[in-house]
Amino acid sequence: MKRIYLDYAATTPTDQRVLKAMEPYWNEKFGNPSSIHSYGQETKEAVESARNHVAALISAAPSEIVFTSGGTEADNTAIKSTGFTLREKGNHIITTAIEHHAVLHACQFMESQGFDVTYLPAETSGFVNISDVQRAIKEETILISIMHANNEVGTIQPIAEIGALAKERSILFHTDAVQTCGHMKIDVNQANIDLLSLSAHKFYGPKGVGALYIREGTPFIPFMDGGAQELGRRSSTHNVPGIVGLGKAAEIAMEEMAPEHQRIRTLRDRLLEGIQRNIDKVYLNGHPEKRLDNNVHLSIENVEGEALLINLDMEGIAGSSGSACSSGSMEPSHVMTALGIPPELARGSLRLTLGRFSTEDEIDRTVDALTRVVQHLRSLSPF
Ligand code: PLP
Repeated sequence: MKRIYLDYAATTPTDQRVLKAMEPYWNEKFGNPSSIHSYGQETKEAVESARNHVAALISAAPSEIVFTSGGTEADNTAIKSTGFTLREKGNHIITTAIEHHAVLHACQFMESQGFDVTYLPAETSGFVNISDVQRAIKEETILISIMHANNEVGTIQPIAEIGALAKERSILFHTDAVQTCGHMKIDVNQANIDLLSLSAHKFYGPKGVGALYIREGTPFIPFMDGGAQELGRRSSTHNVPGIVGLGKAAEIAMEEMAPEHQRIRTLRDRLLEGIQRNIDKVYLNGHPEKRLDNNVHLSIENVEGEALLINLDMEGIAGSSGSACSSGSMEPSHVMTALGIPPELARGSLRLTLGRFSTEDEIDRTVDALTRVVQHLRSLSPF
């Protein structure tokens, strides 16, 4: 059975072109980029070339890019470094209740350190209201951290408006762009973003590498002490193969983002229409228009998300549950809860996310398989 991968929001396969670019940096070109000799010089050049590509992807200057171990580190660094650096100025941080745990838990940590955090609600569509952001601002507000697009329901936030507001009030603005970077055009200057998190494995690069954009002049104390790499902003020897992979993924994204966007959107709409045509009592979560091109997040009445996933997997289809099931309890996720999705619908939720290697044939087979699975599960349901 040919398997179908529809969980691109969890991670993407590394593009063959990225793999090829990384290959020499495992052993042939292994120098430490901080070394003076020619081994070091050749890897330093590769790291700097990657930095140029990542910077170009978000219209930043190369010196504003700091390589990290991924999105989680970038988020933690943005929040904790900014918070502690600006402690004298104020102790208030604004975020939303639907952020990724990398932001939410970092904010909870900041609360334990005496910071005051406002967790803004979102509309049922997942959209954060700019007037709520405005109202939450206080004299002591030092940072607004609001994600670009939600990783579960795919809703895209009005980051340019939030950035403009933050700038007007002289507050730093961080956005977690892990789900959008490499998929959507982002201009950190146009959107007045001071700090931005991105992660290679969400756009066909390797896992365990990402970057934090830090606008020139942003007050910043490093999160880790050590050898003062990355101009003293992130110590530790560079993950050269990973960084080269991130750079290549960024280069490919720059070239292919526009045509890919249209193709994936067309496939996404085909998937949604097919499902809605064949299955009744199915609801789209997230914003109908302001959403990621590749995201279909559904609540399906009278089915359990976990059973849905297992049955789909048996049909060879990999999707994701809209509920956090790591604890085995299938409790609705914090996002579903914050959006006010009733628990019985949240429990029957399914996220299907498409990507570069999705095909029309896969979409049609998924519609057929999901239809069969839902019919089967409903036939067993007591409701
Ligand atoms: N932020 C968002 C919105 C994400 O979707 C993820 C990954 O799922 C992360 C942060 C964490 O990124 P990483 O896996 O690179 O640490």
